[in-house]
Amino acid sequence: MMPARIIDGRPIAQRMQNDIKRAAADYEARTGAPPGLGVVLVGDDPASAMYVRMKRRACERAGLRSDARILPSETTQAQVENAVREFNADPNIHGILVQLPLPDHIDEEAALNEISLAKDVDGIHPLNLGRLGMRGREPTFTPATPTGVIQLIKETGESIEGKQAVVIGRSNIVGLPVALMLTNANATVTICHSRTRDLPATVRRADIVVAAVGRAEYVLGDWLKPGAIVIDVGSNSLPDPATEKGYRYVGDVDFESAQAVAGYLTKVPGGVGPMTITMLLSNTLKAAWRSLET
Ligand code: NAP
Repeated sequence: MMPARIIDGRPIAQRMQNDIKRAAADYEARTGAPPGLGVVLVGDDPASAMYVRMKRRACERAGLRSDARILPSETTQAQVENAVREFNADPNIHGILVQLPLPDHIDEEAALNEISLAKDVDGIHPLNLGRLGMRGREPTFTPATPTGVIQLIKETGESIEGKQAVVIGRSNIVGLPVALMLTNANATVTICHSRTRDLPATVRRADIVVAAVGRAEYVLGDWLKPGAIVIDVGSNSLPDPATEKGYRYVGDVDFESAQAVAGYLTKVPGGVGPMTITMLLSNTLKAAWRSLET
């Protein structure tokens, strides 16, 4: 058995970000201002703060403007919704990202409901997620991480149509929308979660496996059908005294054992992560161009 071909998200993301940079410069030349992303971050979760920093840096590199409302944990519901409304009203902001999770006392659905559909570049407005699951309806944008997952599958050159796909995880931001997008691409989809019985046997039937479990190195090589396309969304930090930082990031898939069985396998880090940011930039650019049409 040949070892898996590794799907490296970094050069793919780089290629797409170069295109975005060129298009953002065109947009700025035409309108006098760059496409703009507004980010709302509430609380002091270090992982969320890091994701926001990475997204803002990527905006800068691609020539997009980014503006952030960094609010303390004790922020009220009204203040969060106001921050979103200010971005809705700002003509220099074309896309809005509310970094999840929000603190427990904030009503997440009510906050996301405030995002203008035209600026919902993370595709997480409840109406956009609903449309994603409905026949004949089109969301204004599809969510960034799931769109990155689909893009990585397409990069293999294999078609999705008719394939058996297993998605492990059913969260609103990853598992569920990935499953809907795979269904829309005509795969036959099974969604697995913490109550799934005999996960290995279910995974073994899949031509495409998307792991979004949040458990380090959980999916093992001997669960996989030989030749399967395996997309690892997981991003888990494991203590590692051998590294300078004292920890390292691993995926939800056990890379070593999976590599021997899968046909294609993504890396962690360097797989889905760079694609997520790229899709956010791409959607912000799209939102900016669309704003000129109305
Ligand atoms: P989440 O909200 O915690 O959801 C995890 C899902 O996995 C849930 O549906 C849960 O089932 C299921 N699950 C948990 N334990 C399981 C088990 N033993 N067997 C089968 N299913 C199990 O996580 P998330 O936000 O979707 O994120 C998933 C992973 O992706 C995390 O590692 C996260 O860090 C990573 N992530 C990466 C990116 C990126 O850009 N690379 C973006 C977002 C998230 P129940 O529904 O039954 O609880």
